[in-house]
Amino acid sequence: MEIINKDLQKLDEKVTEFYKFMVRYSKDLTNLYGKEIYEKQFNNLLSLTNRINPDSEFDSLILKNIKSNLTITDLIINYFNNPKFRISTEKFFDKIAGDGTWAFLEQNLKDLPWKAYWETSEATENKNLLRVDARSKESVDIIDRELPIIKKNIINYCVEEGFLPKDFKFKFLFIPHFDENASASWRPATKILNLYLNNFTFYNKDGKTILDPVYIYNSIFHELIGHGLHQMFSSELPSSINFSEIIYSITPTKSVAEGIAEIRAEESFKLLEKKLKVEKGDLELYKNLIKFHSCNRYEQMFFSLLKSKELKERKFDGAKEVLKLTKNYPLSQYYKYAYNKTFFGTLCDMGHTFGRFHYQKMKDFVEQQHGKGILDQKEFRNAPLRGLWSWEVYPEAVSYFVKELKK
Ligand SMILES: [Zn+2]
Repeated sequence: MEIINKDLQKLDEKVTEFYKFMVRYSKDLTNLYGKEIYEKQFNNLLSLTNRINPDSEFDSLILKNIKSNLTITDLIINYFNNPKFRISTEKFFDKIAGDGTWAFLEQNLKDLPWKAYWETSEATENKNLLRVDARSKESVDIIDRELPIIKKNIINYCVEEGFLPKDFKFKFLFIPHFDENASASWRPATKILNLYLNNFTFYNKDGKTILDPVYIYNSIFHELIGHGLHQMFSSELPSSINFSEIIYSITPTKSVAEGIAEIRAEESFKLLEKKLKVEKGDLELYKNLIKFHSCNRYEQMFFSLLKSKELKERKFDGAKEVLKLTKNYPLSQYYKYAYNKTFFGTLCDMGHTFGRFHYQKMKDFVEQQHGKGILDQKEFRNAPLRGLWSWEVYPEAVSYFVKELKK
């Protein structure tokens, strides 16, 4: 799939370079010299986008996507660095994450699944009594022994199911270091999948230490047949939608990458159940944990936005708002005294928070255009992996690829 319009081809490369700069400046907003250069280049590129007349449907999508990435990222920068920013935090958030997302976050807070939280936490506590510290030498030895087997199991399954081509090249890098903040990660430039000691969970079963397969299989599926495959299916596409560290690092694309990875990670449950005979109870517990984690992320994102709103609007009282919405006094106190992040701190988590949300929006749109269940069919299953788009253009882009595949 190529860009036809010559000016757009040039813009595609220029804008990809600019994204690097945009991300660096976003992290260093105090540098007023950087601000000057940023604004000049941004205005230049934006006016270029307005002068191009696309030559094909694909060209139009690319152009629309460039505009979306530029304007959303610029709006976020403005929210933080412009004292005259006048859009309310609610409207601002709807612009950068989609119409109705603020209302969605409000509703999520009102409907937090307390009963399910309670039951899952009880079940997890009981399991935690049997946890074995992953930092022991025994644990590291188990990983050294098991990792090649895990790799073989996953590759065999994914090749058999048609997810991975036989010759897909990548490398596992196991880092025997324990850091709760270090999560498994896919490095597009080197095709290395980093795994840390804390990505592995161990339990004691009848006096023996055993590795819990659920979490580690899920993590590897997320990285490999989520991000890794997404990169593979994007590699021939124009650079502004190519899955790379640059494109992933701007905010509007993050939720698209993470949505795909989260959905693909669910494939691991089938392998765990069918081939490894993991007990249903253990899988259910993990699936519930994912659900609650997701609600919790929305809650944390919403709290950070309320804190930011307090900074912008002196009269706004976030704790009162939490109490009004939830009638939950301790929660409002937690928000007031214990929660201390603003949106600047949670911004990097936009991808994980809205991944499933934006994936679902895309799926609904594509099904509306092409019929229910279309993306579950083998020939269309990888249409959502073609290109790393802004969430705003993603539904149209996938619909376009489905249409092309039908030809
Ligand atoms: Zn991820």
